[in-house]
Amino acid sequence: MTKEKTRNIDRELFETAKKYIPGGVNSPVRSFKAVGGSPVFVKRAKGSRLYAENGGCFIDYCLSWGALMMGHAYPRVIKGLERVIKRGTSYGAVTKAETELAKLIVEAVPSIDRVRLTNSGTEAVMGAVRLARGHTKKNAIIKFEGAYHGHADYLLDEAGSGMATLGRSASSGVPEDFTRYTISLPYNDLKKVESMVEKLNGKIAAIIVEPVAANSGVIIPEAEFLRGLRKIADKFNIVLIFDEVITGFRLSYGGAQEFFDVKPDLTCLGKIIGGGLPIGAFGGKKEIMRLLAPEGSVYQAGTLSGNPVAVTSGISTLKELKKVNPYAILEKRKEKLCSGIKSSAEKRGIKLEINSIGSMFSIFFTDRKVKNFSTAKTQDTDLFKEFFHGLLKEGVYFSPSGFEANFLSTFHKDAEINKTLEAVERTFKAM
Ligand SMILES: *Cc1c(COP(=O)(O)O)cnc(C)c1O
Repeated sequence: MTKEKTRNIDRELFETAKKYIPGGVNSPVRSFKAVGGSPVFVKRAKGSRLYAENGGCFIDYCLSWGALMMGHAYPRVIKGLERVIKRGTSYGAVTKAETELAKLIVEAVPSIDRVRLTNSGTEAVMGAVRLARGHTKKNAIIKFEGAYHGHADYLLDEAGSGMATLGRSASSGVPEDFTRYTISLPYNDLKKVESMVEKLNGKIAAIIVEPVAANSGVIIPEAEFLRGLRKIADKFNIVLIFDEVITGFRLSYGGAQEFFDVKPDLTCLGKIIGGGLPIGAFGGKKEIMRLLAPEGSVYQAGTLSGNPVAVTSGISTLKELKKVNPYAILEKRKEKLCSGIKSSAEKRGIKLEINSIGSMFSIFFTDRKVKNFSTAKTQDTDLFKEFFHGLLKEGVYFSPSGFEANFLSTFHKDAEINKTLEAVERTFKAM
């Protein structure tokens, strides 16, 4: 098939989708708005690869936005699903499997004693924030600019990738009153947090933070940032919430809190713990989790929460991660990839910054160090577009925005890395 023809297939499918679905997508970042052109329609996926309706095959570094640590269609996960699905898809009643997944999470994540399952990361965050407010009997929360914590009204303030891409600082349809208790501060700036907490003496219920920011591109916490937040939270009776929807089971089996050795009071999980099915979870200290209904007075519920299909996928995924323990090798492969990209760019005088940790990375076309949302915004988004489409032509699918993270799975082996580096080399050459 000619290139022109394949492009037409995606364009036609997208036009049809737009007739029935707003913008043709069910989540805005999928639309390629940040990079232009029609999004690639996916037909199937396996291991590290996406196979498109247009006949193309891509090494996938988006991996369902980080959800697929074990790659696409991982055999054990699929086998488990085949088994469970024949026994019914939802009971609206309790199952042993829920306890099994909860036990795996409690045993893995250092600060979690009890965990409640939800259907998405958004719901997990909403539950955690409500719980923090119920526990402290305070209302205000601090979040960080460029952080994304799902699409709850009061958290769509300076909310990172999707929003940055759309060029809005907040969504319309959110009454001003609903964000009255939300304070957005720059990431990696402990002083600003400290002075805000002091200024609002006694009003802050929670500080919610992505321990590694991953929704304005990957941004690494500076030494002492997380530990400093822990100290402030302790001093002022504030609940510290780590939103580990991306970093949980990604940075290490115990998440960012294990990696950095800082314990939050509450943790939000999602993505990886569902192994590609819709899920979320929040958990933490017994004393706080006890406040949740039915034990306590903080209400939270879900018809399909803990449904056997998503839970089984999660159990197989976590068990495999525990057994395979891919963290060190994935970090090594990521290093090889990132240093290769860096030297390839240097050779051609292309200025870029790569932020990376564990098996996640982002490329920013800028000569500034990226340590918060405003420095992330110094990137040349036109260059990113060119880079993205160049790679796509070469069969490499990066996350379609310069404000997003890229990920490796256990199927991203040396052969994939080498192929990607060759594609990068040719792409830079053409830029
Ligand atoms: C993806 C994400 C969410 C939202 O999870 P959904 O399952 O999309 O609702 C929340 N927080 C972070 C850090 C995320 O990356």
